[in-house]
Amino acid sequence: MSPPGVRLVVASRNRGKVEEVRRLLSQLGLEVRSLDEAGVAPGLELPEPHETFAENALSKARALQGLLGGWALGDDSGLEVDALGGAPGVRSARFAGVEGAGRDAANNAKLLQALQGIEARRRTARFVCCLALVGPSSELLTARGTCEGVILESPRGQTGFGYDPLFLPAGCTLTMAELGLDEKNRLSHRGQALQRLYQALRARLGP
Ligand code: IMP
Repeated sequence: MSPPGVRLVVASRNRGKVEEVRRLLSQLGLEVRSLDEAGVAPGLELPEPHETFAENALSKARALQGLLGGWALGDDSGLEVDALGGAPGVRSARFAGVEGAGRDAANNAKLLQALQGIEARRRTARFVCCLALVGPSSELLTARGTCEGVILESPRGQTGFGYDPLFLPAGCTLTMAELGLDEKNRLSHRGQALQRLYQALRARLGP
């Protein structure tokens, strides 16, 4: 099978994330489905029990592949802030302990509070994304992408999700939440990891 024939399900309930994956991989000819579109019960959780992004991505992909068969893509991503010793890291989604609609705002507020009084040059951070793609014949492909930047003192922009309004990518004048989706995908951790994964998939499955 050639890569353009691959249909895959993304092991995430994060809508922003699934849209980014779909936008990029569909431009490359892959068909991307969300958990809902694949008919996975709304209550089903894919746990992230590990201390590394790579292990969490792999365990989500394996769990989903075991459930649905076919190709399953696991993603684990988050923000590492140097002045906080790499936190929130794998706990990025649950940093402030809030679930549901107010989660991103609560996480951003907690991050700003944690960095209060820290000068601009010490507010360096990076987004990290690890991907694991598991196939029906036990194929396994993995990729990692990072995006360096700094955490601003107040949010800017309306697009994207999560910590995007506080994150100014290195060399940019716009935050992740002020960039369009295509521009974000061009430089983001997830965009980088997806490009690498696609190249690995092509090399594995043929042109
Ligand atoms: P996951 O669903 O466990 O991978 O959660 C990742 C969390 O990291 C998200 O809920 C966000 O808080 C944060 N995160 C990951 N990628 C991004 C991004 O592209 N922009 C903003 N925040 C992100």
